[in-house]
Amino acid sequence: MASFEIRPPEWGEKITVQDGKLHVPDHPIILYIEGDGIGPEVVTSMRRVLDAAVEKAYGGKRKIAWTEILAGEKAGQVYGSVLPEETLEAIREYYVGIKGPLTTPVAGGYRSLNVAIRKALDLYACVRPSRYFTGVPSPMKRPELVDMIVFRENIEDVYAGIEWPWDSEEAEKVREFLYREFGIEIRKDSGIGIKPISAFRSKRLVRKAIQYAIDRKKPSVTLVHKGNIMKYTEGAFRDWGYELAKEEFRDYIVTEQELWEEYNGQVPEGKIVIKDRIADNMFQQIQTRTAEYSVIATMNLNGDYLSDAISAMVGGLGIAPGGNIGDYHAMFEPVHGTAPKYAGKNVINPTAEILSGALMLEYLKWFEAADLIYAAVEKTISSKKVTQDLARHMEGVKPLSTTEYTDALIENL
Ligand code: NAP
Repeated sequence: MASFEIRPPEWGEKITVQDGKLHVPDHPIILYIEGDGIGPEVVTSMRRVLDAAVEKAYGGKRKIAWTEILAGEKAGQVYGSVLPEETLEAIREYYVGIKGPLTTPVAGGYRSLNVAIRKALDLYACVRPSRYFTGVPSPMKRPELVDMIVFRENIEDVYAGIEWPWDSEEAEKVREFLYREFGIEIRKDSGIGIKPISAFRSKRLVRKAIQYAIDRKKPSVTLVHKGNIMKYTEGAFRDWGYELAKEEFRDYIVTEQELWEEYNGQVPEGKIVIKDRIADNMFQQIQTRTAEYSVIATMNLNGDYLSDAISAMVGGLGIAPGGNIGDYHAMFEPVHGTAPKYAGKNVINPTAEILSGALMLEYLKWFEAADLIYAAVEKTISSKKVTQDLARHMEGVKPLSTTEYTDALIENL
């Protein structure tokens, strides 16, 4: 078996946690996982673009000390395990990383490596930004109004995996318990799932969303829930969200109710509006009142549906970035998978991985470098320099290879 050592460059410095805050040095050790399929190509592009953006933004004062760790097929060859303990240990130690997509093993082992990483490190906020870049084919009339970022709770809700098949002993016991204790009758042929929503996990998710809105000067945070029906889970999420906002961010926020009761609907200078919407209405709102939504905080299932719907409004998989963030640990990744049929062909779109890198820079609070990347993607795509996935929907546009597109982006920084 081949050997591998996790070896940060000598000049790299560790990210640390000091006084409850992430402390990012000027030469932070950042982990990367190349991933499978098209992973190595998109990760190489992303590293090139991030290095160039950081250099441009900070003139050599700051530099990322890239350090490879392994997961997926490459890890299987080296360690005999697709998610070795060394990899998880390194993420625990160095805090921040970015990955390419990984093949989900078809038989045995983990249900998904991504889920395993999230669970092992308690990365409880799944963060998905969606914004429009001029020229990207979109089903919307005014896609330029889309600039939203979904903070989706990653751990609880009906997604927690607490469920039993209808004919299992466990389901039978739960049905019996509910009948005996509460007189609730559930049909015998019913599978059972449980939806836990806790104050602790709701509040820490909303805290992240509001902090992001403050850091990036976003106008609002919308709590999305179905609390009119599921009062003590989704309704409680809304209530806990408002409670947290008032307790911890009083000087920064105004609730929508206060806005109308005390400020005649005019947002006081520099305040973030905290509002809530019922989930089904929210799916209309994002399309009909697009400009009114910015940061969105919601539970697992709503967040899953909503983030896909929003990203489809502005171009889909090739440009959809993401991140999974815990209290301090974070792993960024594109939404797309390994697209095996394109692997090694130098044709795929690296933008989703690059934008995941920009989101990581925002997490490090290197906003200047992140903004250079957003502006360069806008400039490159709007001048019709695009890879085949976008070119095929645009009349008379010759597609660039992955490397040509990456070169064009760097030139536009
Ligand atoms: P996929 O890899 O996302 O690919 C589906 C299709 O989406 C591709 O055939 C291609 O469409 C388009 N696409 C995806 N990424 C693209 C990019 N960067 N540039 C241009 N086009 C892109 O989904 P999949 O085929 O369902 O999954 C393949 C493997 O990836 C599976 O093992 C799955 O488990 C894994 N996966 C991993 C992750 C992750 O690691 N986060 C996420 C999802 C899936 P066209 O064919 O139309 O050109």
